[in-house]
Amino acid sequence: MQVQKSGGRMIGAIEVTPLWDGPLPSSLEKIPDPLHRAEAEKLLAQAGPDALTMNVYGFLLRLGDRFALIDAGAGRLMSAELGRLGAALNAQGIAPGRIDTIFMTHVHRDHFGGLIDGAGKAAFPNAQLVLHEKEAGFWLDTGREDLPQRARRHYDVTQRALSSYAGRLRRVKDGEAIAGVSAHPAPGHTPGHTCWLIRSGGQAMLAWGDLIHLAQIHLPAPHIAMEYDLDPAVAKATRRRVLDWVARDNILVAGAHLPAPGIGAIVRSGNAYAFKPGG
Ligand SMILES: [Zn+2]
Repeated sequence: MQVQKSGGRMIGAIEVTPLWDGPLPSSLEKIPDPLHRAEAEKLLAQAGPDALTMNVYGFLLRLGDRFALIDAGAGRLMSAELGRLGAALNAQGIAPGRIDTIFMTHVHRDHFGGLIDGAGKAAFPNAQLVLHEKEAGFWLDTGREDLPQRARRHYDVTQRALSSYAGRLRRVKDGEAIAGVSAHPAPGHTPGHTCWLIRSGGQAMLAWGDLIHLAQIHLPAPHIAMEYDLDPAVAKATRRRVLDWVARDNILVAGAHLPAPGIGAIVRSGNAYAFKPGG
C-alpha cells in the first residue's frame, strides 16, 4: 500500500504532520446550481482534470511526549483507495495505542471511519474523542427520524463508531482548549463543524476540516455551493469568514481536503483566495 510520508511542521512546540488517507473523487454533479456549475467548469478547465479529486488528510500532533490526531480518515467505510491513515501513522513510528486525544472536525465517514477497526472496535484504544458539543448533540442526541434526510444515510455506522468510544467522549464548547488546541465553530458543512486552532510559542495553525472541498473551486470562488454541505448558505458565510481571517492574520492552515501536502498558507487577492502549499 502506498504511503505518502511527509515531514512535520512546527507550530511553536507542537509538531503537526499530515497523514494522507487517500484520494476521494468528486464530481461537478455535486454542484446543484447550474450557474455555479458552469463557473466551476471554467475554473477546472484551467486547473486540469486532477482538480476533481480531493485528498483526504488527518493530522498527527506531537505535544511534548503526547500524541493526538485531528480526524481519523475513512478507515474501511468508503473505498479501497482510502483508509491509509493507519499506515501513515505507522510510518511515523507511532502505534495507535499512543494516541491519547482525537479532535474531530465533524462526524462524516471520511473523518471518523478510521476510528474503528475491521471488527468495529475502537482503533485507538486509549484515545479520548473530542467533539464540539453541537456536533456531538446533532449526531448522538437526535433520533434517526429527526435528522435531515441526507444525514440519515449513514446513521447506523455513525452511531457504531461513536459508541465504540463511549465513556471517553468529551464534548467541548466554543473556544475551549485542550493542550493548546481550541475549538473554533465553523458551522454549515454540519451544524457543529469545528476548526481546531493550534497555538504555541506565538505561532498558529488552523485545522479547518471541510471548510472547503475542491480547492480549485472553493478558493477562487467560495460562494459555490456543493451538496456536501448540510446548510449551504451557512457554509458559504463560514467559508468567507474563515478564509478572510486566516489570510489577514497569516494563520497557516491544515485542511482535510487540501492539495498536497495538506498544510500551507492562504493568500487573498480581491475576493479570491489561493493555496500556497507548505506555507
Ligand atoms: Zn470531508
